Amino acid sequence: MREDVQQLLKIQDFDQRIQAINKELERIPREQEAAKDRLANNQAALATAKTAYQENEMAIKTVELDIGTRKTTIEKLNKQQFETKKNEEFDKLGAEVIRYKGMIDDLETTELELMEKADECRATITEAEASLAKTQVTVDEEIAELDARAGVRREELADLKETRKEESTKVEEDLLADYDRLFIKQEGKGIAAVNSERICSSCHLQVVNSTFIAAKSGERIAECDNCSSILYLA
Ligand SMILES: [Zn+2]
Repeated sequence: MREDVQQLLKIQDFDQRIQAINKELERIPREQEAAKDRLANNQAALATAKTAYQENEMAIKTVELDIGTRKTTIEKLNKQQFETKKNEEFDKLGAEVIRYKGMIDDLETTELELMEKADECRATITEAEASLAKTQVTVDEEIAELDARAGVRREELADLKETRKEESTKVEEDLLADYDRLFIKQEGKGIAAVNSERICSSCHLQVVNSTFIAAKSGERIAECDNCSSILYLA
């Protein structure tokens, strides 16, 4: 193999590693966002639990107000009953008092039920807070791990770029420019092997005989007739 082609192969190896690290570095922030999204379910569950508790508290207040107004009504009825001199009205007012007392009994039963429900709501909130805290820990760990990985990769990347720069000075400028253009155009492949069947490993098509001979002899730089990859004999 020609020395310059061998050198390009070496450079391509660096370039592919650089490309892979760049892709990983692009992925890391997205993975961190995805980790944060996992908190959303826990946060929503906690918000729902808190709303349920607040609504229940409001229902308790409403029941207490209803009990209060009925107690006031009973006081008025008692007063009217005390003041009346008519038996018929006295009985009627008495019946009303009983009816209002019945309503208060029902409301007090409802209030007790709501208070039990408040206990359940508080327990649900505690559970939801615990789940959220637990998820937060794993998410924080994952984000920190990804940060650490990104740091390591950035160092590797700097080293690779430095070495790549040094190695690239060993290749003639025009040839390097050709290779660079091909590497970008063919998304990570500027130099490719050709086998004894004259098949290019990049485009998988057969090259003409003269191209194959050039790749084999190394008398000149051989480029694939189809995809323009710089060829070397496998
Ligand atoms: Zn090709």
